[in-house]
Amino acid sequence: MTLYLKNANYLDAETLDIRNTHLAVEPGPRGGLAFRDSSPSASELSSQDRMLDCRGRLVTRSFACGHHHIYSTLARGMPAPPRIPANFLEVLEYIWWRVDKRLDRDMIEASALAAALHMVKHGVTFCVDHHSSPYAIEGSLETIAQAFEKIGLGHLLCYEISCRDGQGALEAGLAETDGYLSSGRKGHVGLHASFTVDDDLLEKSVELARRHGTGLHVHVAEDLADQEHCLKTYGKRVIQRLHEFGALESPHTILGHCLFLDEQEKKLLRESPVWVVQNVESNQNNNVGTTGYTGLTNNVMLGTDGMHSDMLRSAKSAYLVGQNTEGVSPDQMYARFRNVHRFIKATGGVGDGANNLVILDYDSPTEITSENFSGHFIYGLESSHVLSVIAQGKMIVEERRITSVDEAEILAFAREQGLRLWQKLAQA
Ligand SMILES: [Zn+2]
Repeated sequence: MTLYLKNANYLDAETLDIRNTHLAVEPGPRGGLAFRDSSPSASELSSQDRMLDCRGRLVTRSFACGHHHIYSTLARGMPAPPRIPANFLEVLEYIWWRVDKRLDRDMIEASALAAALHMVKHGVTFCVDHHSSPYAIEGSLETIAQAFEKIGLGHLLCYEISCRDGQGALEAGLAETDGYLSSGRKGHVGLHASFTVDDDLLEKSVELARRHGTGLHVHVAEDLADQEHCLKTYGKRVIQRLHEFGALESPHTILGHCLFLDEQEKKLLRESPVWVVQNVESNQNNNVGTTGYTGLTNNVMLGTDGMHSDMLRSAKSAYLVGQNTEGVSPDQMYARFRNVHRFIKATGGVGDGANNLVILDYDSPTEITSENFSGHFIYGLESSHVLSVIAQGKMIVEERRITSVDEAEILAFAREQGLRLWQKLAQA
């Protein structure tokens, strides 16, 4: 089955070259994209093939999220925490660690389905997720993987292991990770953060990641408290600690946030192949601070940290905050927005190739050129312009409607599971 897009205004996501062309989109996780001088005639099409006229539409590569927490999906509108958190550690204690402890298999499935639904409607076709459900660990990653695939989303998943819920949850987290990666799934060894991971767990996690040819996915210096804990407990800073355990050797490794690094830590980062993911809206929501990422390393990408599923919004927010922290340009922010594809490709992830596309109904009042596209990206383009989405060669959103699943049914399931979660929260 080939999907033909005729009369497309195609924007190459890397070179920003724009050309009017006809596209042949091949299906499958490794499917490609071919350019044609003419669109095929009706007699050339097989009964499985499909042709879509994209006249007046801008077609480009779809988007990907470098750091998400789909487990937070059902938190939207939940009852207020028992008290207003006064700092980041209390945000975790009174909000997120109360939510994740109450998740069960159905809630995880509903969270993954609803988050995937929102991602694809915003043009996001690949997600790097960091999952936590300390009392429903076993099978959680496969549940998420299958939910994502039901919608059509590519993924790299991990389970957030830590010492915070005792030895049982820690061992279950290691076993879940080992089992998932042993089954042939691609993903990471997930850790919460330095301040919830002791030396023994860190050592085991690095070894597990090595054995599976992957890296860690861990929060680093999201709040100053992470550094303070590390200095007090281990007599060193977080990046130094990770370095000494060999955690910075893999190009698969993702460090979330990295807000409070000193010069020595920045140097260690620059000399390593690891990736840093920026989540500026979450940082503002938690009032932990901001930092500039220019020059930190070439490997910086963008995430949502579970705040939402809209990567265009993440890029705009990072750009606006970046005016104050690093004087970032639209060109630089566009590159950072697209870096996630470089990460996925370099780490052998499948399902994020050239046959992942968005068809944009972008009604610009001004001309769009290769030279000025990043200005449109920051100041014009919104996810409301996402008309249709093609994931791995398959149309999964058409004219703003999901074609892969029944959207109303999924949202009804999510609302039902959300109420169950909120009832459990109210009982606590
Ligand atoms: Zn996070």
